[in-house]
Amino acid sequence: MFSSLLIANRGEIACRIIRTARTMGIRTVAVYSDADAGALHVRQADEAVHIGASPARESYLVGAKIIAAAKATGAEAIHPGYGFLSENAEFAQAVIDAGLIWVGPKPASITAMGLKDAAKALMEAAGVPVTPGYLGANQDPAHLADEAAKIGYPVLIKAVAGGGGKGMRLVEAADLFADALQSCQREAASSFGNDHVLIEKYIQRPRHIEVQVFGDSHGNVVHLFERDCSLQRRHQKVIEEAPAPGMDEATREALCAAAVKAAKAVDYEGAGTIEFIADASEGLRADRIWFMEMNTRLQVEHPVTEEITGVDLVEWQLRVAAGEVLPKQQDELAINGWAMEARLYAEDPAKGFLPSTGRLDEYYISFRRARVDTGVAETSEVSPFYDPMIAKIIVHRPSRNAVIVALADVLEETLIYPVKSNAGFLWRCLNDVEFRGGDLDTGLIARKGDDLIPPNNPSQTAIDIAAASRVLDIEKHNEIFPEYLSRDLTGFRLNASSRVTVNYRLPDGEEATGTVDHVARKRQFEVLTRARSDGDLIVEAGQTYFLQSRFNADGLHSAHDGDILSPMPGKVIAVEVAAGQAVTKGQKLLTLEAMKMEHSLVAPFDGTVAELNAVAGAQVQVEALLARIEAAE
Ligand code: ADP
Repeated sequence: MFSSLLIANRGEIACRIIRTARTMGIRTVAVYSDADAGALHVRQADEAVHIGASPARESYLVGAKIIAAAKATGAEAIHPGYGFLSENAEFAQAVIDAGLIWVGPKPASITAMGLKDAAKALMEAAGVPVTPGYLGANQDPAHLADEAAKIGYPVLIKAVAGGGGKGMRLVEAADLFADALQSCQREAASSFGNDHVLIEKYIQRPRHIEVQVFGDSHGNVVHLFERDCSLQRRHQKVIEEAPAPGMDEATREALCAAAVKAAKAVDYEGAGTIEFIADASEGLRADRIWFMEMNTRLQVEHPVTEEITGVDLVEWQLRVAAGEVLPKQQDELAINGWAMEARLYAEDPAKGFLPSTGRLDEYYISFRRARVDTGVAETSEVSPFYDPMIAKIIVHRPSRNAVIVALADVLEETLIYPVKSNAGFLWRCLNDVEFRGGDLDTGLIARKGDDLIPPNNPSQTAIDIAAASRVLDIEKHNEIFPEYLSRDLTGFRLNASSRVTVNYRLPDGEEATGTVDHVARKRQFEVLTRARSDGDLIVEAGQTYFLQSRFNADGLHSAHDGDILSPMPGKVIAVEVAAGQAVTKGQKLLTLEAMKMEHSLVAPFDGTVAELNAVAGAQVQVEALLARIEAAE
């Protein structure tokens, strides 16, 4: 076994790899960009090397810098994690050419599975069932339209080089084909530099089921059973579990055998995942499960497999990379219980799941009741430069029901502030009746729509509880009631059971009153609250709400109509006004670029620019105060 390892990644997966390397006595080297100078993975590694500016293409995607860092620190091996360079065959080859150990499959295996059409053709030849469709080289639009008609609508157009849910178009009928093809090709050319597409039958009630495989350099390949990743939002996985609900033993055996066959067909070494799509309109049946693609790396959702098999997949990766035989044979592997993983993202479900970046002032997840794979800590920054995943919360219990209850309980008390998170959304997904019944498919979230989005404001009960904890806290510390509180008291006397009220401003700007006598007893429910100097945080059903309580007393935090706030995280590309300048209603103040679109922010009324914080070129966070307009007298 080698004794030092460089991790060519960041965030939770870098921390995850460091954890296993440490238990194996391997020295770890982290790499980091400007934005990650203070990141958790840098603090956890034995050594860290700065490799460039914050944008990934100037740091985490620059193979030469990573190899140089390995050389400079004497690291013997490189683990790529997932994303970034993990499926880049040229990088894998360059690592090997530099005399280093590549923790991953042979470059040729990566290449063989790199393009969706080539991979499908290869699998078809190896006798693995593939989704019915057209894989040909003839990309003439008329020919493709003919093929689509032959397959039968609805069809899916997929960029052969696509990934991450990008470069796919669902086409319901022939007259919509030409437009969808054009737009898919355009996206494919700009995102992947390759506009070739394939066409697939669109599977009804599709379920995403994948099999974890593992190979070594001695020709052994085993599978570690399946995962179900059907709960998706826009083709992105949200909650994953293992095993798959409703999978019977015969179907599992057929599926896992097909996966092993697929891995053997590309001489696979290391951890890989064979993704299948199942038509679940009549339950899971072996003859309705088809190969979709192979991911030639460790998956984000690998922990659920680790939980049910008791195998540390990163340890296996390192052992196999060092030339060892697989630590276990197929008959030594078994499924124990049920595991589920929820992906906690810094995003705002109420605003179309826009990424929400900034400092994590408050960050609490119960590490006691769940495995939490995270790359951030309290006071960490969620940077706009990378994937906004905060953590993966993983729970392992004897049954699926027990897992859902336990995971929902952990999410219910997850506190994240002021960054917005999808915790409340995940909690609602877990409490969905269909999901609970194991009746899931990739369209479930879209069908439920707004039912899964947490409300903007907490319930009256939660408001009362926030008020109660504030009052109890003050009493416990024998403090004098602050002016902003006591002025709202009605007949309050210490040590008497009189009524106390606290006025709050709710997240949507409405005012509400928390009344304490209603709820003193509700405290036993252990609702998570946290007092801040300007108000109270409360978590209800996984959603963190800030209730502002001081606005009466000092007026400091009252909403200014003239505040020009950034509607989403983005970049200021132009500032059209100067501080002190007079402006008229509707006049353009600045331009923001976000989500690849430009947004003009205009003056809400006639006045002067009383404050100007926006600087051209600067990254800004959602609700950042960019400028303030003071109304003309
Ligand atoms: P990517 O490489 O972008 O992740 P995939 O080919 O893995 O793309 O597909 C992503 C998701 O799209 C799948 O998990 C599934 O939800 C959906 N999908 C893919 N192929 C089909 C199909 N033929 N019919 C229905 N849904 C599909």
